[in-house]
Amino acid sequence: MDDGRAFYSVRITLVLMLRDLSKAYFSGEIRSPVLTDVSFSIADGEFCALTGPSGSGKTTLMNLIGLLDRPTSGDISLNGQSTSELTHNKLARMRNDVIGFVFQSFHLLSHLSALDNVGLPLLYRGASLRERRLLAAAALEHVGLSNRATHRPDELSGGQRQRVAIARALVTKPRLLLADEPTGNLDGRSADDIVSLFLTLNESWHHGRQE
Ligand code: ADP
Ligand code: MG
Repeated sequence: MDDGRAFYSVRITLVLMLRDLSKAYFSGEIRSPVLTDVSFSIADGEFCALTGPSGSGKTTLMNLIGLLDRPTSGDISLNGQSTSELTHNKLARMRNDVIGFVFQSFHLLSHLSALDNVGLPLLYRGASLRERRLLAAAALEHVGLSNRATHRPDELSGGQRQRVAIARALVTKPRLLLADEPTGNLDGRSADDIVSLFLTLNESWHHGRQE
């Protein structure tokens, strides 16, 4: 039976696929190309960093991948689904289902506790207060901030605020977590902690898959 050939079946799921993606901004008649024919893929569980000088188009690319802006040409597929033909409402739903966002300046609501900030994305999904707080508490524990759940953003350090923002991005269990300069507003020590946290979260994703 053994004909000497070995067959390996490796299933790689692509969470993100970019094909010939281009983006130009227009100011009147003047066209400024920022991205030209960008193609790459990211597999489930991959950890990637996008680097380049200021003004090179990193935020532009993140906003396209995050479905916050539309490309001039080319296509983005998320979870194997092409996005270029989707309506505004379908894009919004896909964004909510698939993507978590972390921003340089945290974007937390100042009048809400850490717990309720983290639970906010679940509100848009119609979750009850009890459910939101249960899942938010689990997400805060994930980022090591259980002991700050009742604090408001102005009672937290920059690093802690970013951890709250990361918990908020994780609470919907996104397939893709995007972070645009997530350490840009932090001192060196807090920035290192946030990078370590991302690496640990990525590790725990892999462990979760093996169970
Ligand atoms: P990075 O994040 O790498 O610093 P950006 O994506 O923010 O780069 O910007 C890339 C280029 O696109 C810059 O030259 C910037 O001035 C320009 N740009 C960014 N956003 C807009 C916009 N909304 N309208 C016009 N030009 C823009
Ligand atoms: Mg930027």
